[in-house]
Amino acid sequence: MARDDMFERLWDGTAEMEEWTEAVSEGAITHVAENIITVHTTYFCGSVTAIRTRGGVVLIDTAKPETASQTLAVVRKWDDSPIHTVIYTHGHIDHTSGIKVIDEEADARGLPRPRIVAHRNVQRRMERYETSQGFNSIVQGQQFNKPGYVYPIGQRRPDEVYDDALSLAVGDEQFELFHGRGETDDATFIWLPKHRVLASGDFVIWVFPNAGNPRKVQRYAADWAEALRRMEQLKPEILIPGHGPVIFGADRAAEVLRDGAEALEHLSRETLALLNKGATLDDVLHAVKVPARYLSKPYLLPKYDDPEFLVRGIYHLHAGWFDGNPAHLKPARHSDLAAELARLAGGADKLAKRAAELSREGQTRLAAHLAEFAGRAAPEDAHRPGDPRRRFAKFRRRRDFLDGKGLPCRLPT
Ligand SMILES: [Zn+2]
Repeated sequence: MARDDMFERLWDGTAEMEEWTEAVSEGAITHVAENIITVHTTYFCGSVTAIRTRGGVVLIDTAKPETASQTLAVVRKWDDSPIHTVIYTHGHIDHTSGIKVIDEEADARGLPRPRIVAHRNVQRRMERYETSQGFNSIVQGQQFNKPGYVYPIGQRRPDEVYDDALSLAVGDEQFELFHGRGETDDATFIWLPKHRVLASGDFVIWVFPNAGNPRKVQRYAADWAEALRRMEQLKPEILIPGHGPVIFGADRAAEVLRDGAEALEHLSRETLALLNKGATLDDVLHAVKVPARYLSKPYLLPKYDDPEFLVRGIYHLHAGWFDGNPAHLKPARHSDLAAELARLAGGADKLAKRAAELSREGQTRLAAHLAEFAGRAAPEDAHRPGDPRRRFAKFRRRRDFLDGKGLPCRLPT
């Protein structure tokens, strides 16, 4: 089967997730178990799982409006009964905002809208999205290269929330919901004991755990590892990740869960060990690395988040915003510091030229500092034709998009 071939190539690292995304873009169905399907439309939006019960269909996540119609059409070819309950794995909009399409379908058919079940913090997240809409619009607009993007708010809130765990019976199916923190503080993973199927939500996303994403709220690497360990103990035979293809087989599911947990435990343990000895953020950032054996796994590639950013997140969780450099406690304005350095160097051009040299030598970290100083010391020169700083436009764009490897950052948020 073509799909299985592709899975094997993803698993052995010879296929890229972009190829899978292309293959599922018409709306693809994975038959997970009797009465359970997962619907995929793209890697970049959360998958949706549908469970047929005697009480109606239960959905795990909804995708977003652009993909929810396609998803619902696939579900409807498989089962036409009313949607009884929707479980959100967390409050990110690529998992929840498709509820609009599902509600509209229920309204059009004269059926009650489905009950929404989620962790209590999904409610708080949605409230936070209301108060930080401008910021979220800017960040998402930059991340996904959509100038003028407006972050959607005002979607329907959960009807039923829980704190630690919740047992849910719908028709003849049993759903065990467990809360953990990881990418978000409102996450749920769902265990279907009869089928030994685990829907992990974004605790498993076929890339390195997204626990350090810059410009996003605090994330929880150690808790993420703990949640993966709890999932491992359930011994699932089928693992449905939040994004990407379903993983069949107890051994493979265990491997994915265990490797993810170990990589996160390593980062947390090493960062804390240094913190406890008085290390600064600078020390920690340049000392703590993920062992290569994890980064080479096709489901742990650092394509979206960078382990270095996770180290920052772990530091921040324990030590707050101060990095240990006294000059950063009450810093000068960046433009004042840049002007002073340009004066010492003999002009902003000197800084820019040195930045270009360093960049050519591959010292992009240093080059970025000097290019920033040059640009801030002489902002009026920023776009002068022939100016050596122009060569940094590409570099700056890459850096702004939070990706050191030249890959497009269009992955989950
Ligand atoms: Zn997601």
